[in-house]
Amino acid sequence: MLRSVRVLGTLLVAALLLTAGSAAAAAPAGSKLYVFTSGSLTANKGAFQQGATQDNFTVPVGFYLLKHPRGTVLFDTGNNDRTISDAAGYWGPLAKAFGLKMTADDAIDTQLAKVGVKPSDVRFVILGHMHLDHAGNMQKFPNATFIVQTDELHAAGWPEPGYKIFYIPGDFSEARNYNIRRLAGNLDVFGDGSLEVIRSPGHTPGSQFAIVRLAKTGTVVLTSDACYLKENLDKNIIPGTGASWSPAGLYEGYDKLRFLRDAEGASIFFAHDPEVFKATKKAPEYYE
Ligand SMILES: [Zn+2]
Repeated sequence: MLRSVRVLGTLLVAALLLTAGSAAAAAPAGSKLYVFTSGSLTANKGAFQQGATQDNFTVPVGFYLLKHPRGTVLFDTGNNDRTISDAAGYWGPLAKAFGLKMTADDAIDTQLAKVGVKPSDVRFVILGHMHLDHAGNMQKFPNATFIVQTDELHAAGWPEPGYKIFYIPGDFSEARNYNIRRLAGNLDVFGDGSLEVIRSPGHTPGSQFAIVRLAKTGTVVLTSDACYLKENLDKNIIPGTGASWSPAGLYEGYDKLRFLRDAEGASIFFAHDPEVFKATKKAPEYYE
């Protein structure tokens, strides 16, 4: 009896050590997550939430950088910098329809410089999807390795009828020979759970979001457009048809996000939620 208690105790300690070990491995000391802005969009709220009618609803365009001991990772790239001086010329009618505002300070090099990062320092670029406000500056990173769903590459290059309006060929016309880690599923980028890319088709055919695990902050989810607004997630409301390539896929993505929020206590960083974005620390401040 005594012996079995001792064996049980040893097993428990071993189990605890294993758990502690994997938690520590998932959140390497020294990782820092930065939040950046790429201007704003102003439109009727109905563009972001099916059935909403509020006019002049302004949303941020966020993107993120993770300084990880094994490399610097960018998540999304914001609006193309050419829209700073020529929004209507580059975005066409969408610039007015979405009230695009980009200032010189929103330029991606200027944003990254706030934390001492040059585009050439970026090792990996994860694209949540390839819409104009997320893949806009991907060609500023010709030496990085991109992490993108193959379905999204196809959707951006030759979109399905009705779904081409938010892809601008100029954003990626020179990117064909880039190094691209093409995914048809999830990816544990550094093999330690500290940065996971989760396939979540719904908003677009190859949408994906990222899970970042930090030593002090805990788990953060970067949604890209897997979900536009906190209210959409809380009330389970998807956007209208043009931003919901697959309603069922979006709902499934929402389930994944809510599970991370509830089971793991994850903070969700929505790319376009005005309140959540306002409350988020901006670079050069960071989460660690
Ligand atoms: Zn989008």
